[in-house]
Amino acid sequence: MVADLWHTLMITPDARPRSTELQPKATRPIIQNVRVAWTLLPFAICGVVFASQLPGPRVAHKKGVANNAAEDRLDQYWKKAQAEVYKSPEEITAQQKRELRTGSPIPELIHGSTKRKWLALTFDDGPHPIYTQKLIDILKRENVPATFFVIGFMAEKYPDLIRDEVKAGFSIGNHTFSHVTLTHLPASEANTEYRACSDVLQNLTGARPIYCRPPGGDYDRDVITAARDNGMITVLWTDDPGDFANPGSHVIEKRTLQEMTNGGIILLHDGVQQTLDVLPQIIAYARREGYKFVSLGDMYSGARE
Ligand SMILES: [Zn+2]
Repeated sequence: MVADLWHTLMITPDARPRSTELQPKATRPIIQNVRVAWTLLPFAICGVVFASQLPGPRVAHKKGVANNAAEDRLDQYWKKAQAEVYKSPEEITAQQKRELRTGSPIPELIHGSTKRKWLALTFDDGPHPIYTQKLIDILKRENVPATFFVIGFMAEKYPDLIRDEVKAGFSIGNHTFSHVTLTHLPASEANTEYRACSDVLQNLTGARPIYCRPPGGDYDRDVITAARDNGMITVLWTDDPGDFANPGSHVIEKRTLQEMTNGGIILLHDGVQQTLDVLPQIIAYARREGYKFVSLGDMYSGARE
């Protein structure tokens, strides 16, 4: 555990979730990093010990399972994803406005037409060996379209789940091969991340994905260009209840309903029990309010009317 923490602090600062308030843009000199890491180490150890006591489906799923290397890798992956800091819809809108002013490329789909009472459901970070099938079952029972933005290496690990998603009529989007923050990579690596994930999905489904989503919603000119070079439309969201942090089912439901709006794209996660618990209620509420669930394809066409 301490070794993992040390690794996080010293070896992979760029792979950690970005918080623009807390992390300086420029890389610190290594000596300064060492000093800061030693100073923070006792606090960080306390934090990790505390965090290990918290319930969470992505960590809890490991209980009772043999502690082999593959499970460790999976667990590390989920821990990283769980700590991911997402951009809020307000931050996305502000960035879009800035980039429109400067002429930079922007994500092609952030919301659909505000004239239509349409919603699109999207689920990031799967496939997950325990939760994906349950999610598919709920969505099929409710008869709603959805898009799964999947991780390439997880798709490789659980190919049958991707096939099940396609068989059930859901669309599959590209969420990079290894779920890294693309803006922290050189432009060519961002391209490789997208291409490798699309290669995996083409092998599994026979088609390359049309839609992609950068982890954390973190993008810049190079990330948008990498998506376009791979023939994909970048999709963000309008509604983000932060379900990946397990805030409680009622909190997920409340936040989702609060942000529900015409042409809304809802960001949820595959691999969160609390999301599964509350999804039927969210769908029922939306329908009572007169919303219709549509595919990203419909949302994209509608946005251009
Ligand atoms: Zn993600």
